[in-house]
Amino acid sequence: MSTHDYVIVGAGSAGCVLANRLSADPGVRVLLIEAGGSDRKLNIRIPVGFAKQFRTDLDWGYTAEPEPSLIGRSMYLPRGRSLGGSSSMNAMIYMRGNRGDFDGWAENGAPGWSYRDVLPYFKRSEHNERIRDEYHGQGGELNVADPVWTSTLAPLFVESAAGVGIRRTEDFNGAVQDGAGMMQLTQKRGRRWSAADAFLHPVAGRQNLEVRTGARARRVLLESGRAVGVEYEVDGARATARAEREVIASAGAYNSPQLLMLSGIGPADHLREVGIEPVVDNPHVGAHLMDHPLATITYECRDPVSLFDATNPKYLVQYVVSRGKGKLSSNVAEAGAHTRVGAGAPWPDFQILFGAAYYFDNGFRAYPGHAFTCGPSFVRPASEGEVRLRSADPRDPPAVRLGWFQDPAEMRAMIDAVRLSREIAETGPLGSAAIRNLDPGPGVRTDEQVEAWLRAELQHTYHAACTCRMGDEDGGALDPELRVRGVEGLRVSDASSMPRVTSGNTNAPTIMIAERGADLILGRGPLQPDALAAEPEAVTAAG
Ligand SMILES: Cc1cc2nc3c(=O)[nH]c(=O)nc-3n(C[C@H](O)[C@H](O)[C@H](O)COP(=O)(O)OP(=O)(O)OC[C@H]3O[C@@H](n4cnc5c(N)ncnc54)[C@H](O)[C@@H]3O)c2cc1C
Repeated sequence: MSTHDYVIVGAGSAGCVLANRLSADPGVRVLLIEAGGSDRKLNIRIPVGFAKQFRTDLDWGYTAEPEPSLIGRSMYLPRGRSLGGSSSMNAMIYMRGNRGDFDGWAENGAPGWSYRDVLPYFKRSEHNERIRDEYHGQGGELNVADPVWTSTLAPLFVESAAGVGIRRTEDFNGAVQDGAGMMQLTQKRGRRWSAADAFLHPVAGRQNLEVRTGARARRVLLESGRAVGVEYEVDGARATARAEREVIASAGAYNSPQLLMLSGIGPADHLREVGIEPVVDNPHVGAHLMDHPLATITYECRDPVSLFDATNPKYLVQYVVSRGKGKLSSNVAEAGAHTRVGAGAPWPDFQILFGAAYYFDNGFRAYPGHAFTCGPSFVRPASEGEVRLRSADPRDPPAVRLGWFQDPAEMRAMIDAVRLSREIAETGPLGSAAIRNLDPGPGVRTDEQVEAWLRAELQHTYHAACTCRMGDEDGGALDPELRVRGVEGLRVSDASSMPRVTSGNTNAPTIMIAERGADLILGRGPLQPDALAAEPEAVTAAG
């Protein structure tokens, strides 16, 4: 048994930030427990290889329960399992979400998390290599960079999007999110810049910070309604770590609710069903799962300019010799558009991702030639799923039910977004670069055909969130200070804490949640709300 002030479970996007901030005071002893191992792996460091981590020991590799809205398919759910967590596996897009997301959080049970409140925390983490304005930070640990290399196809996507009326943007994270442009990335000199690179490795020498890898938390130890430590397992042997101040779960949107439920915190009936004596009946633990459905529409392209040949050894030589240049630095999803598809959407409800490669079935299906992909990702879904336990055994993967498309309007929006994405891909300069549509193929055109194809082939954008959401007494697993309701000394700070999933990729907002969480845990007053951010949005509709 060891004793610490804070025990953090999970060294992912959030856990690395918390470990850094909480151990900044040399008098505070912090233990960070991570089930995975080292992140010194080529497929982590080299951006283009992110999907090569899938179904390896760097991946939890979960599978969802058969999903009724997807003709009973069981969706593959990758999650990073190494230092950096999913920030060591993701596609590195730096996207905060829309200001309306955070104002919505604040209005719906999470005061203190409005856009004005959270902007200073996004800025505190950030070092933006290019953009120097009031919306961005300089000098933070998280390096945000323009891509070192992009295919010649990516600018064509932006031009074709402009052709269908979507404004160009140089910054999705400024005053206005609407627009089409190149993505900014969490990279530095052409290599991935994960949360571990940014926040953990630079402080590895701190005497008061201990990082245990290969250590899987089994449950939070509770005494008289208070979290006092964590029981974990290393190489089959059990150990306990005592926390004199707090335990913080940062195990991600599937594993944080799992850990709480294994500890007796969750929906009482469900816990009894799997043989766990409930300690705190908290129906919101594991509920409200949200993610972004993603369709991938693929085209064969005319010229040999895609990432098809990126595995050619000459690109590895170039990458090594030129320190991060060339095709291997591509994040695949090089460009994108945030646009409003549904009637009356108050801000963009779709992110259309552009990838200079054939990307289908999470990259498991290959195409023997140069190709590109336009992927509409539904970033304002309403449906919610859930995470539940299969048994009381911590080694059993959680049961994940997506619960998608409960409102027919969601499928309608998805069909319209497929139509818009095809229009972008098949007209203007991108249309001229395409030879033929591969998926869904030219025969799939009517609404009925597109819907059938979507149900058969949709995947997700890897943005699981909200399973331990903040909210008011009746609506949240957590209070607005990330404290688990009904237990002392226990918080959850990660993507699961989001009250509603953001309208974009979820790494940056998760890092922000941990930044603000650290101040809350340390009892510091929040950073001053950002006055500039109170300005109204300049553009109210686009595309
Ligand atoms: C393939 C993929 C692509 C993505 N692309 C993007 C993108 O381009 N941009 C973007 O913004 N977002 C992207 N995301 C999403 C984003 O990376 C995640 O939302 C974010 O990293 C979640 O952070 P987290 O701290 O909640 O969880 P994670 O980063 O997943 O961290 C959880 C950590 O806890 C550890 N853990 C879990 N259970 C236990 C346990 N019982 N004991 C000990 N340790 C445990 C895990 O191993 C992991 O290290 C992507 C995600 C994936 C998987």
